[in-house]
Amino acid sequence: MNTTPQSNRLTVSIFGRCNAGKSALFNAITNTENAIVSDTPGTTTDPVSKSMELLPHGPIVLIDTAGLGDDSALGEARVKKTQSVLNRTDLALYAIDAQAPALDDYRVFAQEFTRRTLPHLPLITKSDAVPAPALAALRAQLPGALPVSDRRPEELTQVKAEISRRLDTLREDRPMLQDLLPADAVVVMVVPVDSEAPRGRLILPQVQLIRECLDGGHRCHVTTEKELPQALRELRRVDLVVTDSQAFALVARTVPAEIPLTGFSILMARQKSDLPVLLAGTQAVSDLRDGDRVLIAETCTHNHSHEDIGRVKIPALLQKVTGKSLRLDFAAGRDYPEHLEDYALVIHCGGCMISRVEMMNRIRIARNKQVPITNYGLFLAHCHGILERSTALLRAAGEVPSHA
Ligand code: SF4
Repeated sequence: MNTTPQSNRLTVSIFGRCNAGKSALFNAITNTENAIVSDTPGTTTDPVSKSMELLPHGPIVLIDTAGLGDDSALGEARVKKTQSVLNRTDLALYAIDAQAPALDDYRVFAQEFTRRTLPHLPLITKSDAVPAPALAALRAQLPGALPVSDRRPEELTQVKAEISRRLDTLREDRPMLQDLLPADAVVVMVVPVDSEAPRGRLILPQVQLIRECLDGGHRCHVTTEKELPQALRELRRVDLVVTDSQAFALVARTVPAEIPLTGFSILMARQKSDLPVLLAGTQAVSDLRDGDRVLIAETCTHNHSHEDIGRVKIPALLQKVTGKSLRLDFAAGRDYPEHLEDYALVIHCGGCMISRVEMMNRIRIARNKQVPITNYGLFLAHCHGILERSTALLRAAGEVPSHA
């Protein structure tokens, strides 16, 4: 289970004031001492995360955030980091200290959870430290809150069961492709092996799609773009070609027009983001003007080579198709600016390293600032004039408007 990538696990994060017992709760749930537990307020500075198995639900990531309620400069930095955790959280736990409940702070957070439609579970920590009537009075003010103490195993068991139950209701196994094809479909996947390809392995979208095809009873064939013509000659029937979007231009010329064609990152957009929004974002490419700022964001943090898609190929193509003098900024890994209003366009990678909730929050931030956002695959398809063709399968399935 430890092999489940973080992007495929639901994320549970613990929020609350400094010294509310968040780290003790984190350690009790994970059964480790990963988070520092101390009576000194503000001991946890950076969020601490752990991939774990929460039965009966399954693999999750649990995050212990820095405490809030410290007004120092360090406190401000902690608040920022804590807020960034909100962007990748599927279920929030809010720790309320039974001895010092600070319910106004909780209500501020509860409003933020509601604004984000983020489900949350209030937990009354250190439940053994107050008399039973005081605990009962607090519970009466917090409908749905569960008491928890690391000294009361039965409470911890109940909390874990409730987290697991709620996660089960959030789990969405959204397919990339499986439901779009008949069971006996023949799929050819085109995987370039250039200096950008990781040594000795495939990247996550490729592995996921192979697994989906196997699960769905499809026959899948994997080839490089160089071997593709031979592969097409050898196969008597091909129902779909899925290519790395960097090879779109060449693959579109090689694959006969009657064979449907799409890209891994277009299918990723279907699975873990908002395909219609990202598709609409491609229209902004033609509206770019001299001096406009464009953000190119990817969630990989690998070294950059001369064949790098985000730093080299997309900037070159952007310059070629627009003919404009643009200002490009780059964001990698978990860095993603909250203030996107200065940008005319965001071009994001498929986001295979982050969860659906984090990807959707990135899209939400762009939309709130009315900044168009698209992804690498759709951008490349647009620039190579094959947007219509590469999304035809999804249009036929009614997943994007036919006029988009
Ligand atoms: S650039 Fe994005 S989509 Fe591509 S492998 Fe990295 S995280 Fe995944």
